[in-house]
Amino acid sequence: MTGDRTTIRTVDGLVAAGLAPDQAALEEVAERYAIAISPAVRRRVGPGPDDPVAAQFVPTTSELIVSADELTDPIGDDPFTPVTGVTHRYRDRVLLKPLGMCPVYCRFCFRREAVGPEHGILPDGDLAVAFDYIRGHEEIWEVILTGGDPLMLPPARLERVLDGLDAIAHVKVVRIHTRVPVVSPERIRPRLLSVLRRRTPVWVVLHCNHRQEIGAEASAALGALADGGIPLLSQTVLLRGVNDSATALEELFRALVENRVKPYYLHHADLARGTGHFRTAIEEGRDIVRRLRGDVSGLCQPTYVLDIPGGHGKVPIADSCVERSPDGSYLVTDRRGARHRYPPVPEGTGQ
Ligand SMILES: *Cc1c(COP(=O)(O)O)cnc(C)c1O
Ligand code: SF4
Repeated sequence: MTGDRTTIRTVDGLVAAGLAPDQAALEEVAERYAIAISPAVRRRVGPGPDDPVAAQFVPTTSELIVSADELTDPIGDDPFTPVTGVTHRYRDRVLLKPLGMCPVYCRFCFRREAVGPEHGILPDGDLAVAFDYIRGHEEIWEVILTGGDPLMLPPARLERVLDGLDAIAHVKVVRIHTRVPVVSPERIRPRLLSVLRRRTPVWVVLHCNHRQEIGAEASAALGALADGGIPLLSQTVLLRGVNDSATALEELFRALVENRVKPYYLHHADLARGTGHFRTAIEEGRDIVRRLRGDVSGLCQPTYVLDIPGGHGKVPIADSCVERSPDGSYLVTDRRGARHRYPPVPEGTGQ
């Protein structure tokens, strides 16, 4: 029997909690991809069949449908992995994955083939090799801890990782990608906050997709991080049936800013296997972003990005507002769709 205070990790647990129907095929999903619904998330699940929190974490048989375009390594990390636990795609920053576990398992996860409870903490030997790699590449200005969720590490282990990075002079910034403040807010304790305060500034980027995820406990955890001097950003995945409307995103981004979190990226959903039911068309995403731009504070505007499959990196994909007209001047589209002329640079001073 799964109580309210434990993380649900099995189909039986989901059925007992009334979160999923008793379907034999769900076991097949569970064999492929990890399940976890933390107690805090369970408290945020609303009634009704189309709940935007449940839809992110409760497995469905749609995950068994894999299209030919979907990939086990959707954003092409493997070719950019010089040593275990490190992904180096862009010159000035690397990903360091100190563990492969998450507090919840998102059904649309772009790393779903690489995360799960069986993917534990990066062993000491691998961590040492990862530090050697970072030390040997002076162009690395920023280290992004991701995984898995780095805030799931025992604080002593996180401290060890951060101490190691502090000792590398050219690493000026550490970033932590996490869902913990919202899905396991009880982990944001004074000990963790003191581990995050150090010589090298630590920025926290929260993954959050719907206003309903942010309850009083999450607000308190975000407030504690902000009061602790940690700059907070967020990333959101655009997901069909969860947040694919300008209204849902406006509510989310306002709530984040009210909690001192600056929306950073809105990700177009990646081509992870068995996630087609979550993906929108790029035009739908652009339409939503255009509407937000017109009506909502600039603080609430993330950059809409696509990670190009094959490892070619992230690119902004919102509409361009500027076109060159045949006479050489520019045509700039305003938030209502009207176009305005903007002059080119005068002859002789540019092109
Ligand atoms: C997304 C990503 C980053 C971070 O990119 P930013 O645009 O700086 O947020 C870094 N490395 C890899 C491999 C990534 O996929
Ligand atoms: S928290 Fe991130 S890495 Fe973990 S399952 Fe969700 S999307 Fe994947």
